[in-house]
Amino acid sequence: MRIGIDIGGTKTEIAVLSEDGEVRLRKRRPSPKNYQDCLINLQSMINETEAEVGPAVSIGICLPGAVSPDTGLIKNANTLYLNDRNVTADLKTLLGREIKLVNDADAFALSEATDGAAAGTRSCFAVIIGTGCGGGLVYQKQLITGPNAIAGEWGHNPLPYYSVEKDGPIQDCYCGRQNCIETFLSGTGMAKRYREKVNLDAKTIPDAHAVMARFAAGELSAIEHFQHYVNAMARALASVINIFDPEVVVLGGGMSNISELYEHLPEEISHYVFSDHLNTKIVPAQYGDSSGVRGAAWL
Ligand SMILES: [Zn+2]
Repeated sequence: MRIGIDIGGTKTEIAVLSEDGEVRLRKRRPSPKNYQDCLINLQSMINETEAEVGPAVSIGICLPGAVSPDTGLIKNANTLYLNDRNVTADLKTLLGREIKLVNDADAFALSEATDGAAAGTRSCFAVIIGTGCGGGLVYQKQLITGPNAIAGEWGHNPLPYYSVEKDGPIQDCYCGRQNCIETFLSGTGMAKRYREKVNLDAKTIPDAHAVMARFAAGELSAIEHFQHYVNAMARALASVINIFDPEVVVLGGGMSNISELYEHLPEEISHYVFSDHLNTKIVPAQYGDSSGVRGAAWL
């Protein structure tokens, strides 16, 4: 048995995988709001799980950030309390055993390329579009990693072809830059920009689901907002396709459940790629939200 854990912005999930990739147990809890509670929560989830299924041979954890190759500290996490922490060392102290850490989008990409939506392909770009906007690259079933631990991280590139007329006011990002792709494409960003556009508060439009409910009801402003969303995503994906030319782009995270994306994205992307035809397939993740824990467990 292998344990995989996915620390997300809103929830923490634990899963137990058998050697043949079958999920034996799966549990979710809301993610704590500070680092100490996060560590204690992980400890209790692991203890509870092993009490039920017995000791695991390995524990892999994916989180929304990267381990700095220079310092071993977490960087680039949008769950801000994880940044500048040595999660590997702190968990080793707490649990008395080794754990492996991986970026959540990398875990997701590895899982989908191994036996998920991109299985059998040579190259895949897998993105998680939820509270953040991460990405991972897999070539011949190997994660592509680099000296900065940022391979595939497209979310903090600026939105290509940005203009105020087309894309609305400048968006500030938590990373300190402006107009990051994430501020337009994450569920959080999508809902925020809609609220600003139609002048509604977060109570009325708490998240992207609320926007899509208005879209489904035929509300014009929501339809326009979604059309812009698809166009912005097409611009963002086309810039990656121009560089990596993957066979498949796998979409995961909360926003990937919007089925209309797959109807409109290929046509929309084709306007922005440097090719007369788009052969890249755009597909939803096979394991959906479970890909993070699966990839972490496979570590
Ligand atoms: Zn940013």
